[in-house]
Amino acid sequence: MKEIEDRYTKDRERIDLALRMIHHEARTTTIRHWTGLTDDRIRKLYHTYVVAVTPGVRRHRGKSPTQTAFFLKNAAHRRQTATLAGLFALLGLLQTTESAPVGSVAALERGILLCRTYETYLALQNPIHLSFEHALRLLSLLQRRSELKPDTCRGCQSLRVIDVLSARVAHCEWCGEHARDQLLKAS
Ligand SMILES: [Zn+2]
Repeated sequence: MKEIEDRYTKDRERIDLALRMIHHEARTTTIRHWTGLTDDRIRKLYHTYVVAVTPGVRRHRGKSPTQTAFFLKNAAHRRQTATLAGLFALLGLLQTTESAPVGSVAALERGILLCRTYETYLALQNPIHLSFEHALRLLSLLQRRSELKPDTCRGCQSLRVIDVLSARVAHCEWCGEHARDQLLKAS
C-alpha cells in the first residue's frame, strides 16, 4: 500500500512540475527531461489544463537557446544574469556538474528547485529578460564554466557573471554605474 501511495505521490509531483514548466513556456524536451513524462502525456496536459485555463501560454518545440552572448549583451541582461546566477549559487546549484538521470527522483527534485529559483527571479525583476529556457542554459554554462563563469566584484563582493574569454572588467554592473555617476558629478 505504501509503495502505491509513494508512486502516486511521485506521479502527482511529476504532473505538478510539468504544469509549472508549461506555464514557464519550457520546451517539451525540457519537461520530459525533468519530469520523466512521455511527450504524449505532456501534450495532453498542455491541452487539458493549460489551453483551457491560460490560453496565453505558448508551447515551444524547437531547440533551446544557445547563444552565450545573449546573457552579457547589455547592462540590463548582465544584471539579470547576475541575479539569477546569485540565486543558483545560494541554492548550491553551481557546485555540482552532476546531471540527474531522466525520469529519476533526483531529476524531479532538481526540476522543482529550478522552478522555485526561476519563480524567485520573476518576483524580483521587471521587465523579464531571461526566459525559463535561458535560465536552464545559464545554469548549464555556469556549472561547466566553459564559456561563462561566476566571478566576484572587486567593489561590492557580489556575484557576477563574466565571459571566460573576454578582457577582465573588475566591477559588477551596479558598481560600474556608481563609478560613472561619481565621475559625472565630479565633472
Ligand atoms: Zn559591485
